[in-house]
This record gives sequence, C-alpha cells and structure tokens, in this order.
Amino acid sequence: MSEAAVLGAGRGRAVYLDYSATTPVDPRVAEKMNGCLSMDGEFGNPASTTHAYGWDAAELVEEARVHVAALVNADPRAIVWTSGATESDNLALKGVAEAAGGGHLVTTSYEHKAVLDTAKYLEGEGVQVTYVDPGHDGIVDPAHVVAAIQDNTFLVSVMHANNEVGTVNDIATIGRRCRERGVPFHTDAAQSAGKLSLDVERDCLDLVSISAHKIYGPKGIGVLYVRREPPVPIAEQIHGGGHERGMRSGTLATHQIVGMGEACRLAALGADAESRRVMELRRRLWSHIQQIPGTRLNGSSELRLPGTLSVAFDGVDGETLLMSLDDIAVSSGSACTSATVEPSYVLRAMNIADDLAASSLRLTVGRFTTPSDVDFAGRRLAEVVGALQHRTSP
Ligand SMILES: *Cc1c(COP(=O)(O)O)cnc(C)c1O
Repeated sequence: MSEAAVLGAGRGRAVYLDYSATTPVDPRVAEKMNGCLSMDGEFGNPASTTHAYGWDAAELVEEARVHVAALVNADPRAIVWTSGATESDNLALKGVAEAAGGGHLVTTSYEHKAVLDTAKYLEGEGVQVTYVDPGHDGIVDPAHVVAAIQDNTFLVSVMHANNEVGTVNDIATIGRRCRERGVPFHTDAAQSAGKLSLDVERDCLDLVSISAHKIYGPKGIGVLYVRREPPVPIAEQIHGGGHERGMRSGTLATHQIVGMGEACRLAALGADAESRRVMELRRRLWSHIQQIPGTRLNGSSELRLPGTLSVAFDGVDGETLLMSLDDIAVSSGSACTSATVEPSYVLRAMNIADDLAASSLRLTVGRFTTPSDVDFAGRRLAEVVGALQHRTSP
C-alpha cells in the first residue's frame, strides 16, 4: 500500500476505498466496547467465577457468542474466540493436522497467506498438500477440489470469497461433497461473513474463520467455528488454562468480544439492505472506471462480493498509479503482500499476465462510502490513469 494512501486516510482526507483491508469500527460498536473499558464498566475477567465482576463479564461474552453464532446459523457452543482470522486459520489447519497425525491437505493456490503460509509450514512438518488453482474467473471448480481428495486427506480448506479479487466460491457444493467423502471442510470466510449468506448446516461447513475488523468490528478479535456434531477432531495450538472448551487458552478480551458480537448483530440486522446499497455503489464505481480506455475487471463480474473490484489499467504501473492517487486510499492487491513488488500470486494463480497483474488495483466500497465518494474516485482515476497512459505511450 502506498504511504500516501495510508497517511491520507489517517488525516481523513483521502476517500477510503480499501474496505477489504479493514473497515472503520462502527460507532455503535465502539460505544458497546467503551462499556467494558471504564472503571464502572464490565472490566472483570470472564473466567472469574467467585464474584459478580466475573459473572457480568462472562454474561456479555456469552451474549456476543450468540450474535456471532447467529450470523452463520451455528450452535453458540461451537464458536471459539481467537485473535482474528489469521489465528483461526492456523488453528483449523494445524489443529486438525495434529489431531489426524498428519496426512494430506487440500487447499487452493490463491488463499489468504494465513492459510497458504500455514499449509507451507505443515509441508515442512511432513504433510502432503495439494494446491488447487482457481479458474481465470477467480472461481475454484468444486470438481477439481473433490478430485484432489485422497484416502489420507484430513482436511479440505477453500476460502469463501477471495480477499484480493472479491470472487466468491461455491462453498455449499464443496461442503456437501466433502461431507459425502467424510472429510472435514474449512472455509476462510473473513471477507464474506456478514456480507453473503452463510449457514454452517445448509452449506455443510465444519470449520469457519471469521474476523471482526472486516465487518466494522475491532481488530484483534475473530472466531473459529468448530462443528460439534459430528465432532471435528482438533488439537489446541495455544496452551494455558483450557479456556474455550480446551481449544484456545487465554483470558478472553471482553471489550473485543463485545465489539465483535455487536458488529455481527448489526451485520445480520441490515445484511440485505446493506448488500444492495454497497453493490449499487460498486456498480456506480465500475461505470466510471469502465469508461477509462484499457481497463478490465479481474475475475467474474457476477460471482463477487458486493463491494469489491479488482481492475487492471492496461499500460499503467500499479505502484506508480497508487503513488499518484494520494486522495484515494486503495491498494494494489492485498495489503498484506503489497510491501513487496512481486506480481500478485492471486492474479498469477488466475493466469492473469504479469504486466496486467502489475497494473491492477483493488477498490472496495463499504458501509460508510457515499455516492459522491465514488464519483470523486472515478473522476480522479480517469485523470490520473489518462495522464500516466499519455506519458508512457510512444
Ligand atoms: C483479513 C483476512 C484474514 C486475516 O484476518 P485477521 O483478522 O486480520 O488476522 C484472513 N483471511 C482473509 C480472507 C482475510 O481477508
């Protein structure tokens, strides 16, 4: 991500179009969290069973657990608090691998690094991994996933929506096929939870990673849904006290948890209306961008998150473009990898040429984006891309 974009957003000057990287905390969420941070608020340790400070904090934690569970139609007892989707992904992959005593893992080549790097680590531990490629449209073919399953496959992990291009996989079909084969199925739903319909029963999901800061909650809190019936064998990865039914130790962060609960409650309340509104903004942004010569959308135009666009600007270097766009906060690919100048591994996996990948930007709109933000961004993109194309043309 460009320095200018970061600073601009911090000063409240640049138009923020990077909701895939993180979202602002909804003021209603912040208010709830404040109630756990003051002297007269619920500061107790939820694990304290000997006084009301502890009981009251525990009650708030359990309320929040119900809100998070409801978002994915889960049994609240199957929700394990973590520090975010990165930890959830680690717990899912390492925890199931360890409980299975090794074997074979099926995942995809365009997962978030939280899954990919964990899979790489497991390879070092002797686990065999198959990385299924998405198609050029950024969608993973469920048949390819099923074909990769072996007798010793202990887990299939396929992300719901890709964080860089915004394309959405048919996890319900993959989930059902895995269930038929008796293989647990994990999905990283950090980008999709609260935005797309997710149902652990209907979609046959056994493990689901969710992060609060992608849905207007605070950073540093997430969950892993771990199915109880039939149980998914999983080994804890953080030891020390046996919190969260022995799956994740550590004093629960009441304020973070309450924030995530409220974020999920708000997401569930307004999901349909918000998705429609955000999709309308994304279409409006695309209608501006489309008019810029040499632009193309990366990934399927239909099977995508309501707010996410990944666009290649032919003949323009993405990093240069970012530097020139100091009044719009966007990113080249995902925030986590844009410190390096390597072409995006996600776009590579989709078989998009390196020069187009290098000229790609990710733009995401969200809850607090306005039509005038989008119109401003469209106008600025047209100006800057036009100037850069003019400069580089012979
Ligand atoms: C943001 C994100 C993560 C990491 O979540 P954190 O809560 O920031 O650790 C993992 N997977 C996907 C798909 C994401 O978008």
